[in-house]
Amino acid sequence: MTKVHVKVDDNVYVLSGKDAGKTGKVLAVNPKTGRVIVEGIAMSTVHKRPRSASDPGGIIRIESAVDASNLMVVCDKCKRPSKLEMRFDAKGEKARHCKACGAKVSVVGREN
Ligand SMILES: [Zn+2]
Repeated sequence: MTKVHVKVDDNVYVLSGKDAGKTGKVLAVNPKTGRVIVEGIAMSTVHKRPRSASDPGGIIRIESAVDASNLMVVCDKCKRPSKLEMRFDAKGEKARHCKACGAKVSVVGREN
């Protein structure tokens, strides 16, 4: 199992592929494959057949998964794509910190 450094709701910067240089919000992470779905990134067009009244089909745009190694988390404070480091803060909570400005990105909780 790959250790994925991004989490759902993270703002990430895309390093490679056709969407290189763009940023987007993480919608889903698959820790088994290390693949990540990012809002508006790696869009592909899917031609769907109508299945029912609630599923009219047609041409839809859907995000495809990108590899987590092509993503960098964008720091909320310095607004730069940055490396994160795991540190214990003053309160003794384990948290992810921005290596560039030192800001706390998120506390490592039970959800991950
Ligand atoms: Zn920062």
